[in-house]
Amino acid sequence: MDLALIERWQAVLTQLKQASCDSNRQTDSVQLLAVSKTKPAAAVATLAKAGQQHFGENYLQDALPKIKDLKQHSTIIWHFIGHIQRNKTRDIAQNFAWVHTIERSLIAKRLNDQRPENLPKLNVLIQVNIDEEISKSGCLPDELDKLINDIKQYKKLELRGLMIIPATQKEPSKNSAFVRTKKLFDEAKNKHPDLTNWDTLSMGMSADIQPAVFAGSTMVRVGSAIFGKRD
Ligand SMILES: *Cc1c(COP(=O)(O)O)cnc(C)c1O
Repeated sequence: MDLALIERWQAVLTQLKQASCDSNRQTDSVQLLAVSKTKPAAAVATLAKAGQQHFGENYLQDALPKIKDLKQHSTIIWHFIGHIQRNKTRDIAQNFAWVHTIERSLIAKRLNDQRPENLPKLNVLIQVNIDEEISKSGCLPDELDKLINDIKQYKKLELRGLMIIPATQKEPSKNSAFVRTKKLFDEAKNKHPDLTNWDTLSMGMSADIQPAVFAGSTMVRVGSAIFGKRD
């Protein structure tokens, strides 16, 4: 067992609790998603045994063997957080409980059609290109309403909220991206009262847990602070 790994994980949990407390939020109002991309199944198993439930993966070819290896760890909940190519939707629909990176209807439709009947609904988040960067994935803020309406028709998807990766900028504008996304999230909730499980705002990574929680994140995606640097 890797004690340093467990210590880093516990330090992140402590940091998360502190951030919630400093923002006058309930300590259990923010989930920790441990981003295990490129890291071995053994590291995931160690944290799963210590009590970590949610794990995030970006690359299917890296994730699928791990998911298979870890089948006996029934408490693990897998989240897909990478860019989705249309020919990969079946593997995602069959192997994950959550998808954070829906940016267009076609992908949502394919995930819906390919979600096996014997599995619970697939929890999905819409990735928003909040800084409207040309190179970045995600739907534009102006397109959000239409995409929400499209996804509502898909009965095997449970639309839970939004996800962002802010532009790599200096602090103030990054923090404002968190605040703008929280506003979009609340506006969408008001506009779509029929979305009864609209409860998840996925934002914040190793370097910006604190400002993300302050702005209203309900799920931080943390990789390197837990698992160490990636190659
Ligand atoms: C890699 C990754 C993370 C984790 O990043 P760290 O800086 O290592 O915490 C979070 N979200 C996404 C979408 C990622 O690809």
